[in-house]
Amino acid sequence: MPRTTERPPNIYRRVPGATHGTHVPSAIVIHCTVSPNVKGVKDVLAIPNYWKIQNKGYNAHCVIDGEGHTVKCALDNKLCWAVAGKNTGRLHIELIGYDTYTKAQWMQQEFGLKEAAKWCAYWCHRWGIPVKTSVNHGIATHAMYSAAFHVSDHTDPGKNFPWTQFMKWVAWYYHNGWVV
Ligand SMILES: [Zn+2]
Repeated sequence: MPRTTERPPNIYRRVPGATHGTHVPSAIVIHCTVSPNVKGVKDVLAIPNYWKIQNKGYNAHCVIDGEGHTVKCALDNKLCWAVAGKNTGRLHIELIGYDTYTKAQWMQQEFGLKEAAKWCAYWCHRWGIPVKTSVNHGIATHAMYSAAFHVSDHTDPGKNFPWTQFMKWVAWYYHNGWVV
């Protein structure tokens, strides 16, 4: 299979969730679900199901487990609620896992982190988002949004998330493409 920078990474299943109008994406936010990563797809399918039952209008564009299974829960141009007050223009990725993980625990989910990095690379191409750490026009964690805008106290994906490595993967896929 040839590498691509134009086709989206693999989608295991589409499970449309709540959206709140349309927007033009200009930044990406990385979260974690604070739920267990388990073998198979139950972990990743549980998240949109939980949002549906919870019925508060929360959603994210992608939910990705440690093995790299991706559930797409909204079209890119639909607005999802996942950070307080700063959702317009944001594409959200929820990684299955805990904000209390050690770096080693995150690295055990390398396949999932790399799938998320592919989505970031794809979105950077598709929507003209810079491959850099930024809460305004780039890629950032939910914790960085909390620190920058003081509108939420969420610290996901946690202080041990391998951010530098993750951004290196994003840059690599951005330049070299990925296989779908
Ligand atoms: Zn979050």
